[in-house]
Amino acid sequence: MPECRVLHCPNSSSDVFTYNFAPLQQAPVCHAHLRRLMGGEMWLLDSRTHYLRMGADVPPKVVAHHVAKTFDGRNMIELDVETTHPQDGTRNLSLVLDPKSAEDLRKNLGFMLGKGEAQHP
Ligand SMILES: [Zn+2]
Repeated sequence: MPECRVLHCPNSSSDVFTYNFAPLQQAPVCHAHLRRLMGGEMWLLDSRTHYLRMGADVPPKVVAHHVAKTFDGRNMIELDVETTHPQDGTRNLSLVLDPKSAEDLRKNLGFMLGKGEAQHP
């Protein structure tokens, strides 16, 4: 039996978890992980390694963001981000970014900065 494809699990697989139907994509998993997956526990597929991340290996999820203020004259933006994680709970992160970095973040992560708050030099 191949190893369980949940990251850091030492068990052999005994079941198959279907994480996509078209195209069909499945991962061999142990019985305990299949039960947790079918129970609705959060998981993430690492597209590089094709391992499933669960529990402490799931990265925090961005649930809210807020542009706190613009530093006039310095073209910097303070961005507050709230994340949630199954084990760590809610955390707040504050980033001070130049407008280009803030715009790149907005494009790549889908952040919605308010109009006029991203001041371009
Ligand atoms: Zn497992």
